[in-house]
Amino acid sequence: MSELRRPIECGVPDSKQFMPPVLVRNYGKWAWHDRPQPGVLRHVAEGGDQVFTVKAGTQRQMDIHTIRKLCDIADQFCDGHVRFTIRSSVEFMTPDESKVKPLIDALEAAGFPVGGTGNSVGFISHTQGWLHCDIPGTDASGVVKALMDELVDEFKHEDMPNRVKITTSCCQINCGGQGDIAINVQHTKPPVINHALVSGVCERPAVIARCPVAAIRPALVDGKPSLEVDEKKCVCCGACYPPCPPMQINDPVNSKIAIWVGGKHSSTRSKPMFHKLVAAGLPNNAPRWPEVAEVVKLILRTYKADARPWERMGEWIERIGWPRFFEMTQLPFTKYHVDTWRGGRANLNASAHLHF
Ligand code: SF4
Ligand code: SF4
Repeated sequence: MSELRRPIECGVPDSKQFMPPVLVRNYGKWAWHDRPQPGVLRHVAEGGDQVFTVKAGTQRQMDIHTIRKLCDIADQFCDGHVRFTIRSSVEFMTPDESKVKPLIDALEAAGFPVGGTGNSVGFISHTQGWLHCDIPGTDASGVVKALMDELVDEFKHEDMPNRVKITTSCCQINCGGQGDIAINVQHTKPPVINHALVSGVCERPAVIARCPVAAIRPALVDGKPSLEVDEKKCVCCGACYPPCPPMQINDPVNSKIAIWVGGKHSSTRSKPMFHKLVAAGLPNNAPRWPEVAEVVKLILRTYKADARPWERMGEWIERIGWPRFFEMTQLPFTKYHVDTWRGGRANLNASAHLHF
């Protein structure tokens, strides 16, 4: 009889086993760092050791051949060490300054642009999309690839007033968080219910509890249990679709893309900020999303020309004011923009039930 396979409570593996030896030796002892050129960081330790980090961008979702190519470059220049950042750019570290230029040349020759440091447009992050989530209304990684192709020069140079973090989210739940510029799916019509499937597929109480504005009610349709939506209440958030796929909300025409600006997670220089809606109803136009790219480039151009050094997007808008932002970008302004959620008590929290 085979031995029992007991679980090993190992938690997160110790990261030191994967680090280049120079990082392990100087762990917690780094004295200062600078950026000798865009895309390259130099860290110098208290004892004088130094390490160069070269940052490069990829096409985001990578096949095994691309990852092998990146590993081959790491083998050739960095003794096999490479790491992926939280935004999925890749970083190669070497203590040998003479290897930096050949490493950059090898990355550029293989099609990986070097940049994303300092006051550049950093690598664009996106939510999980089709590969890992069951509700996307667009291909967030595709939007990122199309935009990065347009913005590659802003990734490779450090010409922005401050760093620019762009995010994309493939549904309105927006698990991607806040960004200086955020590109989010925006459903504009309530879900269409396939009543024939509801009774066999959905747990109706779970779907009803999911709706943030209590717009879903149980109903009998043709004598069978189903659901109905109060379309006047529905805010088209899409939260009912994951627990009940027959409540189809994705729509090739009416699921649009919206752009939000001025968000940030960090508390550096100023407090974290929520991004706010500035462009709505853009077509979800795969595979290159040209209308989205045009608005993003317009906002970036205006920010670059007018912001003071080190102002993040939200800080710049706070200084000049939202009316001036819309004047300068010439984006159309409607009453739905720049929502402070002051009216949220009436239009969002309309139900008495709470769920955590
Ligand atoms: S943004 Fe929405 S669809 Fe995209 S991964 Fe997050 S929850 Fe899923
Ligand atoms: S889309 Fe959102 S608001 Fe509309 S019914 Fe579904 S959960 Fe409720």
